[in-house]
Amino acid sequence: MSRGTCTGARGATGGPEATEGQPASGEPPETAGRDTVAGEGKTLARLADIPVSEVRRIGEKRASPLAELGIASVLDLVTHYPRRYIDRTRRAEVAEMLVGEESLVLATVESVSSRRTRNGRAIVELDVDDGTGRLKVVFFNQGWRSKQLQAGTEALFFGKLDTYKGRRQFTNPVVDLVGNRTGRIVPVYPTSERTGIAGWEFGEWVAEALRRAGRLEDPLPARWRADLALIDRTEAFSQIHSPESFEELGRARRRLAFDELLRLQIEVVMRRAAAERDALGIRHVVEAPAGTVGLVEAFVAQLPFALTEAQRHAIEVVRADLAGGLPMHRLLQGDVGAGKTVVAVCALLVAVQGGHQGALMAPTEVLAEQHYLSVRELLADLSVPDPGRLGGSRPLSVMLLTNRTTARERARLHEGLVSGSVDLIVGTHALLTDEVRFRSLGVVVIDEQHRFGVEQRAALRAKGRDAAGGEGADPDLLVMTATPIPRTAAMVLFGDLDITELDQLPDGRAPVKTIWARSEADEEEAWRVVREEVAAGHRAYVVCPLVEGSERIQARSATDERERLASGVLSGVRLGLLHGQLKASEKEGVMAGFRRGEIEVLVATTVIEVGVDVPEATVMVIEDAERFGIAQLHQLRGRVGRSDLPSWCFLLGGAQAPSRKRGGELLAPDAFGAEGTVGANARLEALERTNDGFELAEVDLEIRGEGTILGSRQKGRSDLKLASLRRDRPLLEEARRVAESLLEEEPGLLALGPLGEEIRLFVGEEEADYLLKS
Ligand code: ADP
Ligand code: MG
Repeated sequence: MSRGTCTGARGATGGPEATEGQPASGEPPETAGRDTVAGEGKTLARLADIPVSEVRRIGEKRASPLAELGIASVLDLVTHYPRRYIDRTRRAEVAEMLVGEESLVLATVESVSSRRTRNGRAIVELDVDDGTGRLKVVFFNQGWRSKQLQAGTEALFFGKLDTYKGRRQFTNPVVDLVGNRTGRIVPVYPTSERTGIAGWEFGEWVAEALRRAGRLEDPLPARWRADLALIDRTEAFSQIHSPESFEELGRARRRLAFDELLRLQIEVVMRRAAAERDALGIRHVVEAPAGTVGLVEAFVAQLPFALTEAQRHAIEVVRADLAGGLPMHRLLQGDVGAGKTVVAVCALLVAVQGGHQGALMAPTEVLAEQHYLSVRELLADLSVPDPGRLGGSRPLSVMLLTNRTTARERARLHEGLVSGSVDLIVGTHALLTDEVRFRSLGVVVIDEQHRFGVEQRAALRAKGRDAAGGEGADPDLLVMTATPIPRTAAMVLFGDLDITELDQLPDGRAPVKTIWARSEADEEEAWRVVREEVAAGHRAYVVCPLVEGSERIQARSATDERERLASGVLSGVRLGLLHGQLKASEKEGVMAGFRRGEIEVLVATTVIEVGVDVPEATVMVIEDAERFGIAQLHQLRGRVGRSDLPSWCFLLGGAQAPSRKRGGELLAPDAFGAEGTVGANARLEALERTNDGFELAEVDLEIRGEGTILGSRQKGRSDLKLASLRRDRPLLEEARRVAESLLEEEPGLLALGPLGEEIRLFVGEEEADYLLKS
């Protein structure tokens, strides 16, 4: 008998037969022979209006466990897609299963026991038998399994066979209660057991809902369906829930995934069009008057280094945008250390040169402060023309605005912005408040991970327009990603922006050698390297463990950590301390001391994550590294390797490490929740393996899933349930092509027709109004 296989919805279409696309296998039984006529079938919006309790057999009683899954309407129900599919003909027998391999068995529960660990977590243990052998099945943190899987229950178990104390077992396998379902391919629905809903029951509800819905309107024009070999929507919904074959499943999934991507891309191209629709751009003067040296040229000339080719190119592209009549809308992507700040500053300087102002916005106070410090330092020697002054110029003025800015400073700042005596302002979202008005806002740079929402976009535009007594215009916009994101994700998240990549690091950078210190000996080695480097006149960072709680608690723990190191492995070394609770002036003092070498090792919280720039720093030690995300670790590592000196990054901790004592508190390793530990180790391994931020971004996407990246995007309904930005790249590109061509050729269809209705449903009313206005 062949070993069991189990295929995730995405995996099922991984093969060429699915992605190449094939014509539909035939008409669906209920709709055979009928053509889709616009307006005839039910739209998704209509399905969204029907409460799920109206589906026969669900009723009011079963509606509440469904609500727990976020399923309120028939649309929610039918788009709650199976998480995976089990091919029943490919079951394994317990006697034949091999350790380390994934298999699927159909077995009967013989006995159940449940207990709790000392810290209160539930463990449920089963003995199951399939007639050929016995197997132990263990669930952690799933106390409800003891009710679900009582003795005598027959169920499918899918997982990777492991051993514990010499016995073969399944740990946290996927479970499907078989019920009396027939058919070769059994869909398994996400988290349905937790709510007491069995998979077979769920499947029946979906089938009933789809039967009742009948024919669904297909909003995709037939010629596109033919062109892309996509099956009809009604058919796709029915087949994704109960496929006859994996080929059929592949086609259904491809169609529905395409719809998700198309909605996204329509939104994106419409946003773009909306932004351009009634734009009042500024044609910036990018060339200095004859005989004078432009601000950008002066700035570049005084830099202690030559620009990389990539920077030069990016600056040219940005200047061309700025010179043009439409407001710039550009994303600048570049790995840590690629030198994005220099490009951003050039953009801001073009504004200043033409008599406008520039703003640089960061997502957090700490980042804003860091940016402020680096921009101020970069521009220290520059002055702007001022005919009214002796010598015809004055120093360029850069100010900082965050929620920490005192009322008095703030008042001064507001005045300076209105009068124009402040040229550049760096700040947080505080920049968007009503009191902040500009004399003439020309360029805005946003350094962010999150998407800029409608309100902020509007606020920003207003800042430009309200300037100059209402005579202002729309500022040009440059968005920098603090961490690179995969191009596919960028196409979605920042799809309405033009993208420029800084795909080159400055010359002479020696790659950072990254070592995941798995053992105590590795850890000792890390501290030895720190002492050695310090002795050689270089510097090191130690990033403290992340602790739960407030900034204050984090600061406290950093202080303790410094004590611990000072009286231990780093005794005799000059240690400094940096955390978010220090005043700006104190922080500056500490950083200055570190730069000069008076402080040799800086013990810090993640305050140093971005922006800190000390070329002599050659070692980065990150404690309890498993607590940080990939992007954050990569950013932290980016603080070293900023010169031609060889440098190191040591990642301490990891899921397998024994718990270590820290400041009197015992930090338990994250041993529960298999995903957690696997994820943490995979992260550390990835960091060890590569220095390439784009590659890490892909890994991150893989480990975390796309929900997290897209999480901040959705204002309306959550979409992208099937489509994968990684695996469906070609489909995403098709969707972009279709969206662009629809917008060009049939804009009415997007605004009004069934597609328009669907966009409205998925992006939310407010956003849709903005997109569809005029
Ligand atoms: P990021 O892209 O990560 O924001 P930064 O703008 O902070 O990078 O630049 C990283 C460091 O590299 C800074 O110290 C900056 O001054 C320096 N730098 C920028 N461009 C160059 C260059 N062309 N050659 C050498 N060093 C550069
Ligand atoms: Mg930066």
